[in-house]
Amino acid sequence: MPREWGRQKPTRVMEMSDNSTILEIKNLDVAYGHAKALYAVSLSLKQGETSFVIGRNGAGKTTLLKTITGLLKPLNGSVIYEGREISGSPPEKISLDGIRYVAQEKKVFGNLTVKENIELAAYGAGEPLERALDKVIGLYPKIRNFLKIKAGQLSGGQRQILLIGRALVGEPKLLLIDEPTEGLAANVIEDVTAILSRMKGHVSAMIVEQNLAFVNQLADRVYIMKEGKVEREIADRSAISDTREFEQYL
Ligand code: ATP
Repeated sequence: MPREWGRQKPTRVMEMSDNSTILEIKNLDVAYGHAKALYAVSLSLKQGETSFVIGRNGAGKTTLLKTITGLLKPLNGSVIYEGREISGSPPEKISLDGIRYVAQEKKVFGNLTVKENIELAAYGAGEPLERALDKVIGLYPKIRNFLKIKAGQLSGGQRQILLIGRALVGEPKLLLIDEPTEGLAANVIEDVTAILSRMKGHVSAMIVEQNLAFVNQLADRVYIMKEGKVEREIADRSAISDTREFEQYL
């Protein structure tokens, strides 16, 4: 992955000769105790693609992301990442293999500075701090002004950006982000959109989101979930831009 985001062409994608699949989910059933949350969910993501998962509260979107990251174990089905079955692997191993999860809760290490938060991610990913900082600053130059501030003092939007930056430290291949624009002011949503646009093609992404304008700007593919199932898949750009069609599912 390039160190300076947005200043180079997406080499990862250009190097790829085909549209190979990075993630394939087959017939996933997941339950919390006796309460089933996912029913035979199947979907796939191509290398370099940005896909969105939309649907009402309780549709199973977070459950899907948590199952991919290894935080939840499926009852049945497969999660195949880069051709290998990963369901059942511990979350730390899945993260080291390149799948990074930015959870909905926007949790940072509040008593540590922004720089220390990035340092911890760099340490965890085995990347030198300077390189990690370069990468995060390249993605969002304004973060230079916050490096010495305690992360607990950041606004919701700044936290979200820090968390996306942290997720990009090391060599991530697939980012899973749960509702990145939730509760953010319009100007911060613009910043998050710009960051994710710069990342597009460099890293594959699966993003859970309810904000259709945001989906429209970034999506290569949209999955609509309803009551624990995948109701529809839309991969055609002109169909994705007509987000009125999606409103009935939110
Ligand atoms: P939201 O945007 O509200 O988080 P979602 O589409 O992400 O919605 P999930 O959070 O995945 O939906 O929830 C799917 C189903 O699983 C819901 O019926 C929810 O009540 C249930 N559920 C989620 N987390 C738990 C849990 N920890 N224990 C029991 N049931 C849960």
